Amino acid sequence: MKVLKFGGTSVGSVENMTNVKNIINDGEKKIVVLSAMSGTTNQLVAIGQDIEAGNSAAAVEKVTTLHETYKVTVDNLLQNGDLNASVKAYVANVFSFLESCASKTFCVNLENQIVAQGELLSTYMFNAFLNQEGVSSTLLPALDFMRIDENKEPDIAYIKENFKKVFEATPDSEIYITQGFICLDTEDQISNLQRGGSDYTATIIGAAFLAEEVQIWTDIDGMHNNDPRHVENTHPISNLSFDEAAELAYFGAKILHPQTVTPVRADNIPVRLKNTMEPSAHGTLISSVTAGDGIKAIAAKDGITAIKIKSARMLQAHGFLKKVFEIFETYKTSIDMITTSEVAVSLTIDDDSNLEPILAELDKIATIEVDKNQSIVCLVGHEVVNHDDTFRLFKILQDVKIRMISYGGSQNNISLLIDSKDKINTLQKLNTYLFELVTP
Ligand code: ADP
Ligand code: ASP
Ligand code: MG
Repeated sequence: MKVLKFGGTSVGSVENMTNVKNIINDGEKKIVVLSAMSGTTNQLVAIGQDIEAGNSAAAVEKVTTLHETYKVTVDNLLQNGDLNASVKAYVANVFSFLESCASKTFCVNLENQIVAQGELLSTYMFNAFLNQEGVSSTLLPALDFMRIDENKEPDIAYIKENFKKVFEATPDSEIYITQGFICLDTEDQISNLQRGGSDYTATIIGAAFLAEEVQIWTDIDGMHNNDPRHVENTHPISNLSFDEAAELAYFGAKILHPQTVTPVRADNIPVRLKNTMEPSAHGTLISSVTAGDGIKAIAAKDGITAIKIKSARMLQAHGFLKKVFEIFETYKTSIDMITTSEVAVSLTIDDDSNLEPILAELDKIATIEVDKNQSIVCLVGHEVVNHDDTFRLFKILQDVKIRMISYGGSQNNISLLIDSKDKINTLQKLNTYLFELVTP
């Protein structure tokens, strides 16, 4: 059995929901994971922020506007009178909950509860739509089986057990629909898998019952060789290994949640990226097979902070790096890139929520310099480290100020740290000289 995940654009209009129906209605039993309709999660986040800021009027206004757009969508989607009325009643209930949140001052976990409504709405509406179109489907509530542990990692044992229970309760259904992104935490409070988390839901479910394949259906024909939002003339990559895809997702390729590949790689479950608007396009197949040498794709991750830790005693003092790493471990902050010299070590973090206490501790053992607003540009491929492309990099980037380079950490990744203001120019340059075969 396959797991198919459809993102925000794929369920963002009646036309696209009809495409989704046509894709899934092939007589095969399957699990379908849906995101919120495009734009909804951003609106819900904004509503939560207004409430937190004490701006109740602005929150209520956003709730009302969003409710109006949902009423129109329901009318366009559901012509069947009974289904239309029952879905409108469900939608009204969700929006009266949101309105009651908007009039409250901030309370614990309110934002997570608000942001979860997007996936609850889209799945309810789509299930009714399938029903109207005569396609048999069952709604499996994600909150009955999806859960994260105290480290905010998926609790795989719990998910396996509970997914099996809810799935086996309705064995005769053909299509099982569930919400992406949302889950419970260890206190049974509503939580989520972070922005873009529906991809992660799909691979977690895929791993939980050893699916034959996980498909991520989106608004583009697979993983492109560079960020299509910033660079022209990008093209889809037909095959990626798990390692390559994991690096690209982790280092900023927005098409995949950073952790998407993690649950499925150990069991060798392939992940296929497909375009809902162009189902016949090949897309990208992520599997254990490695095809082709050289740099295949480039991604960039923003919001990076670089910390240079200088200590004249570093060389003599064995155990210095251990002390440094322990400080980051204490504050549960993971390090992305690291370079060392005899007197200094530079490293990067993307989560700076504990930066102050980390710097205070580091300050006791070394001199510190901090640079914010940095980006990691990550070049990914098979055996890139030994490839000719790599030797041309310095020439291509001769006028870009590179703050750090990570080379040789793995065979399939070279990472560069640059100021975020140079990112788009760097991505474009790399595209021209690496992929469009122009000589630098
Ligand atoms: P969904 O809502 O379906 O989850 P996302 O917006 O999360 O879709 O991801 C798809 C988008 O990712 C594309 O529209 C594209 O703009 C962006 N993107 C960024 N980098 C890449 C890349 N390397 N390849 C393909 N798409 C990318
Ligand atoms: N709706 C969530 C988001 O916008 C999850 C997802 O789309 O994957 O982040
Ligand atoms: Mg996404």
